Amino acid sequence: AGGAGGAAKGQRVLIIGATGFIGQFIAEASLSGGRPTYLLVRSGSSNAKTIKSLQDKGAMIVYGGMKDQESMEKILKENEIDVVIAAVGGANILDQLTLVRAMKTVGTIKRFLPSEFGHDVDRADPVEPGLTMYNEKRRVRRLVEESGIPYTYICCNSIASWPYYDNTHPSEVHPPLDQFKIYGDGTVKAYFVAGSDIGKFTIKSIDDIRTLNKQVHFRPPCNYLNINELASLWEKKIGRILPRVTVTEDDLLAAAAENIIPQSIVASFTHDIFIRGCQVNFSIEGPDEVEVCELYPDESFKTVDDCFEDYVAKIDDKSIGVTANGIAAQNHVVEALPITAMCA
Ligand code: NDP
Repeated sequence: AGGAGGAAKGQRVLIIGATGFIGQFIAEASLSGGRPTYLLVRSGSSNAKTIKSLQDKGAMIVYGGMKDQESMEKILKENEIDVVIAAVGGANILDQLTLVRAMKTVGTIKRFLPSEFGHDVDRADPVEPGLTMYNEKRRVRRLVEESGIPYTYICCNSIASWPYYDNTHPSEVHPPLDQFKIYGDGTVKAYFVAGSDIGKFTIKSIDDIRTLNKQVHFRPPCNYLNINELASLWEKKIGRILPRVTVTEDDLLAAAAENIIPQSIVASFTHDIFIRGCQVNFSIEGPDEVEVCELYPDESFKTVDDCFEDYVAKIDDKSIGVTANGIAAQNHVVEALPITAMCA
């Protein structure tokens, strides 16, 4: 164990998967709120830099793996953990079954947030191989519910970034500089949420009675966009128009059917989102679901516009090259257009 812990207030949170893509945002949000934050770290974790950075911000490191029930029970008891948040990746979803059994035995967990952070897996029905991952997430949900552990399911929709159909972590790369791949006719809308807001609203939900045993859907109206609108927004940022190539429904289904993991999983979700409209083809009105903007009407969401601004700044840093009208083409010569000619 290590780390200062800071001014301890609120419930004691254990985050599993804090070295991962989504888990880092959650850990940052927990620490910035001054909560006593414990991170379960596997001894073989290759992400020492992230661990050190979170430790410097006050995180307490507990070494262990989720699949060892006895050791998990000990960790939960010894550190008097109130809230457990799992943000493990697609390959480790079922590891949570042992964790759930450990939480049930310990009997003191006030809230568990399993590794969801996407769509409502009971409602969405993607093609394979995405369906297999959803079946695993459904299995975890059912065990949590049977075990009587208080839970919250975070359905945060898409992370704010260009939704590459073959990239699990699309926000780690900037939107395209050569051409846009537009799914179908590009008119199906989705919700895009900045990673920092996924973290912020996940942490806000953990001790909110209104989210107890509920699905929390993230539908920020400011970030309700289709892929044509995303493309226009990015063009406005970079000051030039890029060619658009259509990726058809059949193309996405073929990429899914290749069954290359994880890319084909992403292709199946891309199909579900941008062809079938799985994020927007239902209303949130069931007794077990709440919408995050309605819960926290005074809180703002970071806009996709601001996220794209961050990409432009990062690209500048890497000296890719900027012209008076934006970022210079690297391999692709396109005509620069005045920014005022485009709209988001
Ligand atoms: P990553 O693969 O980036 O990270 C997984 C983390 O889990 C790592 O920190 C890893 O630790 C840890 N881990 C895995 N297995 C165990 C275990 N048995 N015990 C302890 N720690 C473990 O995950 P992602 O961030 O990609 O995925 C997290 C969730 O977010 C998933 O449910 C995924 O579907 C969802 N997601 C949502 C997105 C969206 O746009 N809405 C985008 C991407 C993901 P180690 O460092 O040891 O490997």
